[in-house]
Amino acid sequence: MADLSILENVPLAGYSTFRCGGPARYFAEPSTGDEVASLFRHAEDEGLDVFVLGNGSNCLISDDGFDGLVIRIARNMSELSSAETDDGRVTVTAGAGLPFARFGNYCAELSLTGAEFACGIPGSCGGAVFMNAGAYGGEAKDFITKVSYWDGDKICHIDGSECNFGYRTSHFEERNAAGDKVVILGFEAILSKGNKDEITALVEDLRCRRTASQPLDVPSAGSTFKRPEGFFAARLIEEAGLKGFALDDSGAQVSPKHAGFIVNNGGRAKASDVKRLMDYVAEKVFENSGVMLEREVRLVGNFGG
Ligand SMILES: Cc1cc2nc3c(=O)[nH]c(=O)nc-3n(C[C@H](O)[C@H](O)[C@H](O)COP(=O)(O)OP(=O)(O)OC[C@H]3O[C@@H](n4cnc5c(N)ncnc54)[C@H](O)[C@@H]3O)c2cc1C
Repeated sequence: MADLSILENVPLAGYSTFRCGGPARYFAEPSTGDEVASLFRHAEDEGLDVFVLGNGSNCLISDDGFDGLVIRIARNMSELSSAETDDGRVTVTAGAGLPFARFGNYCAELSLTGAEFACGIPGSCGGAVFMNAGAYGGEAKDFITKVSYWDGDKICHIDGSECNFGYRTSHFEERNAAGDKVVILGFEAILSKGNKDEITALVEDLRCRRTASQPLDVPSAGSTFKRPEGFFAARLIEEAGLKGFALDDSGAQVSPKHAGFIVNNGGRAKASDVKRLMDYVAEKVFENSGVMLEREVRLVGNFGG
């Protein structure tokens, strides 16, 4: 780990699209799978908890921060390349730290179709695999054919078909929930060539639909809750009379533009304010509809209780 610095007491609010949360006790941005492995060995030796952060666009980080080592997979692991396959399709290889939107735009530039939806998702490629990110009928699982990851012991490669992708879940999310430390290092995707004008038009159409319906100019982590089977979270929240609702003047508010988003106006709310509002919304929706919303946003660090 000679060249890899581990920083201390690093504020995390700037690494979360919610723009709130406290510091990481230790923080590092590795460049290779071997560095990831060294960081985990170091954490084990020092008895430190580890959290793997991507672009922080689906996380609410506690005001106390994270009392351990945050390993951020970002620009240092953002390689991107492509090669034509024998059958005329194209394999695109992306590092886990590459913005998923950059991957989508690269595919569009190469006239590859199927990844247009990715252009509007503000996470990393690793986060997109972990969450099986998706929008407008597309999901990461549609084109991912191989994922490389560090499994706590060694670097492994698995086929997309073995990734157990589901609605906002994957093999990696399941392993994480079971307490395993797995770090996605990159993926391979196979896409077919399409009509460049149609691809460009679709990217633009999806961008306009997002801008028209989502509060993209205010800090948030996208959809707060998962879509419950047979319902839409945003509609249930609206029906509970909570669109635009705020508990107080902290800055945390159910977006007046899209009830599925909780926003942090001016970036002035604390994570605890956002969490309190999330809990309140879930409780009121349950009272009103009998549907229990499940959080999509992931909590990092200590929120009490
Ligand atoms: C304005 C806005 C719009 C959004 N729209 C959408 C949308 O349309 N569709 C959608 O699916 N999501 C959407 N999101 C949510 C978010 O962008 C996705 O969930 C994204 O995939 C998260 O990626 P990330 O890199 O930011 O992950 P993070 O928020 O950093 O992390 C999320 C989880 O993934 C894990 N993780 C991240 N990287 C790795 C890695 N390399 N190895 C192992 N674990 C990792 C983390 O530990 C954490 O548990 C939106 C968010 C915002 C702010």
